Amino acid sequence: MINTKKNLVNKAKKKFLKETKPTSKKYITNYKDIKKFFSYFNKILFKNKLNNFNDIKIKKISCSGMCIENISYYKGTSFFVLELKPRYKNKMDFLNTLSHEMLHLWQQTIMQDTGKHNKLFFSFKSKFKKLNLTLGY
Ligand SMILES: [Zn+2]
Repeated sequence: MINTKKNLVNKAKKKFLKETKPTSKKYITNYKDIKKFFSYFNKILFKNKLNNFNDIKIKKISCSGMCIENISYYKGTSFFVLELKPRYKNKMDFLNTLSHEMLHLWQQTIMQDTGKHNKLFFSFKSKFKKLNLTLGY
């Protein structure tokens, strides 16, 4: 029997690897790529379970990326904001950051986890490696 779901994931994986040849060219962050690679990573890494970030901001920040949870105690809801830098050293640097922050989103929204760099977080290490991504702190 053919496992179609798995085939689709493998297809996306191949397409992703083809589109992300390492380059040393500076990368300029844009919403089009964020949307595109969010959907790739969601399919390949998170079984399409992730909901979009509630908001995405491209701005100067001191780290490479942030996944910020805003909690409304009044409403009892959480609001997740992704913050990315306007430019990155290269495209892989951008992709490493996006996938990293998506993993935090997954921890917090799907697994109800703390979203820290814990065992659950690093359990994705080999999955990331297959996409040539480096999972770090
Ligand atoms: Zn992190």
